[in-house]
Amino acid sequence: MTKKEVLLKIENLNLHFKIRVGDVRAVDGVNFELYKNEAVVILGESGCGKTSLAKAILRLLPNNVKTYDGKVTLKGVETMEMDDELYRNEIRWNKISMVPQSAMTSLNPVLKVGNQVAEPLTIKGMDKKEALEKVREMFKHVGVPEDFINRYAFELSGGMTQRVAIAMALITVPDLIILDEPTSALDVLTQANIMNLLKRIKKEEDASYMLVTHDIATSSELADRVIVMYAGQIIEASEAELFFKKPLHPYSKKLMASVPKLRGTDELEFIEGKPPSLIGIDKVAGCRFAPRCAYKMEKCEVEAPPVYIKGDNKVKCWLYENKDEVD
Ligand code: SF4
Repeated sequence: MTKKEVLLKIENLNLHFKIRVGDVRAVDGVNFELYKNEAVVILGESGCGKTSLAKAILRLLPNNVKTYDGKVTLKGVETMEMDDELYRNEIRWNKISMVPQSAMTSLNPVLKVGNQVAEPLTIKGMDKKEALEKVREMFKHVGVPEDFINRYAFELSGGMTQRVAIAMALITVPDLIILDEPTSALDVLTQANIMNLLKRIKKEEDASYMLVTHDIATSSELADRVIVMYAGQIIEASEAELFFKKPLHPYSKKLMASVPKLRGTDELEFIEGKPPSLIGIDKVAGCRFAPRCAYKMEKCEVEAPPVYIKGDNKVKCWLYENKDEVD
């Protein structure tokens, strides 16, 4: 078996914000690795910290940051050590690009989309004519008619706007593309088309993705590995095949049971209760999922579980304390 090449390594990453009523621990001691040509899906309910994790990796930080520390290493280079200007010039868009949640609002309404997609290239010094030629090629690649380079964002459908955003993320041939709920505003057919496009690009260009989403069904097509976040922490990281057959963590089991199936008579489950507030979550001594967990034991409420490593999979839950294998 060939050894997988680590592209991105995240070590003890924290991103906490200060608001009037306290500190929001949006990303709270996160560790994971992402391999080259891998699609990692980050799953979780709204407010679990997944978008903050994407922003922390890209250093897109709001003004009210209280704590931002840990280690982010891309291809052996520690990116949190870099000063802002170097990071902007070397990493953001060039090595890590992002397809945002709502491409429509992220595109400039008064600029032609071709010029916007060309911008990362012209900023790097490429001649405008040559850059627009590259945009034409990229549009062809992602299924946008070439003459759309002269259109404005408001003239495009939701699916086409998302394709333009993907073209923009790909134009600099980055090492990693972060996709933040890239299909949430689209109809089901367009969602499937975009997922197929991402799959094709991954195969043809050796692309690596970190896909942030709450949509298990759509992301299952693309995922090589699934990471589940809860209350600012990673609670499970599993190979996709195992995860979709047999998730490990009680929260992951609930997430999977809440996905409608095409066939079968299983009743859909709802996850009772709400995710905890991230303000002062560090004061919770035990497992952060305990108030909603059907498997809760006495120790769950007094001591936070460690992360158990089972082969290629990790799970943060006391149920796996004495299990050598995941079954
Ligand atoms: Fe449930 Fe306990 Fe596992 Fe937390 S540690 S998920 S409360 S069984």
